[in-house]
Amino acid sequence: MSEKIPTRDVTPDSVEHHMPQETVTQHMYASRRHIYVREIKGFFQRLRRVSNWALMLTFFLLPWVRWGDRPAIWFDLPGREFHIFSATFYPQEFMLLSWLLIICAFGLFFITVFAGRVWCGYTCPQSVWTFLFIWVEHRLEGSRNRRIKLDKQPMTTDKLWRKSAKHAVWLLIALATGLTFVGYFTPIRDLVVDLPTLQAHGWSYFWVGFFLVFTYLNAGWLREQVCIYMCPYARFQGVMFDRDTLIVSYDAARGEPRGPRKKSLSHAQARAAGHGDCIDCDLCVQVCPTGIDIRDGLQYECITCAACIDACDSVMDKMGYPRGLIRYTTENALEGKPTHILRPRLMGYLAVLVVMIGAFAWAVADRTPLGFDVERERNRLFQTNPDGQISNVYTLTVRNLDKQAHVYRLEASGLPGLTLDTHEVSVPAGDSRQLVIRASAPPESIDRPSSEIILRLEARDADITVERDSRFIGETR
Ligand code: SF4
Ligand code: SF4
Repeated sequence: MSEKIPTRDVTPDSVEHHMPQETVTQHMYASRRHIYVREIKGFFQRLRRVSNWALMLTFFLLPWVRWGDRPAIWFDLPGREFHIFSATFYPQEFMLLSWLLIICAFGLFFITVFAGRVWCGYTCPQSVWTFLFIWVEHRLEGSRNRRIKLDKQPMTTDKLWRKSAKHAVWLLIALATGLTFVGYFTPIRDLVVDLPTLQAHGWSYFWVGFFLVFTYLNAGWLREQVCIYMCPYARFQGVMFDRDTLIVSYDAARGEPRGPRKKSLSHAQARAAGHGDCIDCDLCVQVCPTGIDIRDGLQYECITCAACIDACDSVMDKMGYPRGLIRYTTENALEGKPTHILRPRLMGYLAVLVVMIGAFAWAVADRTPLGFDVERERNRLFQTNPDGQISNVYTLTVRNLDKQAHVYRLEASGLPGLTLDTHEVSVPAGDSRQLVIRASAPPESIDRPSSEIILRLEARDADITVERDSRFIGETR
C-alpha cells in the first residue's frame, strides 16, 4: 500500500528506556497481533466477574421463567404481542420502545461522562462473552506463557485435544447463546424439543445458526478487534469525556523514570536512587484484553476493564509500594487540580434522564389497556343501501390489554344520523377480536365526498375509552 500517514509510535519498544519519541511513518494497514491475555486476580476483576456472571445468568435463565401459562419474557412476533411479565405490549405501542432506547442512550451518555467506558469493561455483551471465552481458553490451554508455547509448537496429540476441546466448548457456549436468544422470540421449552426433532420453524434454525456463528467469531476470534474497529461507541466516547471523567490512568509523575531495580530496595531507597515506582515489569500490558500499554496515556482502545489496575496493584504489593500507580482517576486529579463530580454537564444529563424515566414510567403506568385499530374497506368506496342510506364498511381490531374480560360499547359520530350495525364487542383478557362493521348515514347529511368520522370504543364496566379517526366516503347531492 503506497498511502502512508505520519503517526507517533507508542508501541512499548519505542518508549522503553526513556527514548525520546519521534514522528515516524507507518503503513495504514497493520496486521493483527495475537493477544495472549494473562489472567489476573484482584478487586476489580472480582467485580467484573460478579457483574459478568449476573448478566449471563440473567440472559440464559430469563427465557425459562414462566408467567402463568406463558414465558415471562416473550417477544411473540407472529402473534404481534410482546409479553414482559404481567404486561403485554403491542406493535402500536412501539413508541414506548423508542422512548426506552432514547433513555438507554442518555443513560450511556451519563455514565460515560461520569465514569468513562465502564459499560464496555463490565457489562457490554462483547466484553462479557470474550472474557468467558478467554476463561475457557485459560482452563484448557493453560496460562499465558503455556498458550504462547503451545501455539509455537508443532501439532501434537496434547495440542490437538486442547485446541479441539477449546473450540468444542466455545461452540457449545455459542449454541447456548443462539438458542437462548431465539428463546426470547419462541418459547424455549418448545424450542429445545423441536430443534433436535426437526419440528422447529425454518427461521428458528436460521437464527440459532446465525447467533452461534456470530458469537463464536466475535468472542472467540475477533475479540478486541470488535471493540477497536467495529464498535461506534469507542469512536465517539472521546467527545463525551472531560477532565473530570473517571478514567483508568497511569500516574506518570509517580511511575517515571520506570525501570528494574533490586527488590531489596525499600520504596524510599528506590525514590532516593532516582527510580520511579514503575518497575517496567510489563504485567499491565500482559493482562490487557486489548493489548495496549496504559502507560502511553488514554487510548480509545481502553475498555476500562481495570485489569491493569489489579495487575499493577499486585506488583506494588509485592514491592511494598503504595497501591494506585495505575488507578481510576481524572485528568484534573492527575494534575493535582480539584475534581468536580457534580459538574453542570453531568447534572444536565442526570436531570434529562430523571425526567425521561419519570415520564416513561408514568406513560407505562397510565397506558390505556385497550388497542383499537380501524381500517376502512378499500375495495368498495361506499354502498347505497335498499333504504337509500349510504354505507361504508370498516374492519375493526379490538385488543383487550387488560387483565380482565370486557364488553365494549361501540359508537360513531361526525355525521348527522350516522349509525352502526354493531354496537358491542366482547373480548377476553389479553385477547383480541377482529370484526367487520357497517356505518350508514342518510344521503342528505353528506355534504362532501370524504368526511371525517370518529369511532369510539368504551368499556361497559370500566373507565376505558379509545377514539379513532376515520373517513366516510359518500356521494354529495
Ligand atoms: S488499559 Fe487497562 S483498563 Fe484499559 S483495556 Fe487495558 S487492561 Fe483494561
Ligand atoms: S504493572 Fe505497574 S509496575 Fe509493572 S509495568 Fe505496569 S505500571 Fe509498571
